[in-house]
Amino acid sequence: MGPPGAGKGTQAKRIEDSYGIPHISTGAMLRREVERRTELGKEVADIMNRGELVDDAIMLRLVRARLSEPDCREGFILDGFPRTLEQAEGLDRILRDQERGDVIAIDLVVPEDVLTDRLLKRKREDDTKDTIVRRIAVYHEETAPLVEFYERRKVLVRVNGNQSIADVFSEIDRALTNKLQRAVSPTEGD
Ligand code: AMP
Repeated sequence: MGPPGAGKGTQAKRIEDSYGIPHISTGAMLRREVERRTELGKEVADIMNRGELVDDAIMLRLVRARLSEPDCREGFILDGFPRTLEQAEGLDRILRDQERGDVIAIDLVVPEDVLTDRLLKRKREDDTKDTIVRRIAVYHEETAPLVEFYERRKVLVRVNGNQSIADVFSEIDRALTNKLQRAVSPTEGD
């Protein structure tokens, strides 16, 4: 979790390399559809360029299919999904259907001015000033409430995203190791 520019993609890649589980970026999946000019790509191109969210049913269909692939058997790292409460509830249904354990949610916390700065330097097609402003607003409206959703479930880890890439990763790595150990051998209390 974390707003646009928080470093989700960068950190997800490092988790992929270090834990040997696939990095699943729903944004990258959609951009691929747009490049290939598939039916889905044509349907979502404008939405993405405006910085709006693609329909929940479409996203859930994509993610359900991707998570059934064999490389996801031992786990996976989702980047940019879920982004709405509907998607989070859908993800729970998928995990239940596939008889998997619970998620660990990582929230990358970064001050707003740092975010805009990073995004303006990034140079992706949908990183224009207007789109960035819209994407940050959509994040606050639709996605930020999910932090509380996962916090209530005690699966949320907050990480300071305003430090070097290596330091952010060490913090994530420590938190993940800790959570995964607890999942294997739960101890009393917190
Ligand atoms: P991202 O690469 O995660 O910043 O995603 C780029 C764009 O793809 C977003 O601004 C949305 O238009 C779309 N998108 C990616 N993931 C999702 C999602 N989980 N739900 C809805 N739209 C998404």
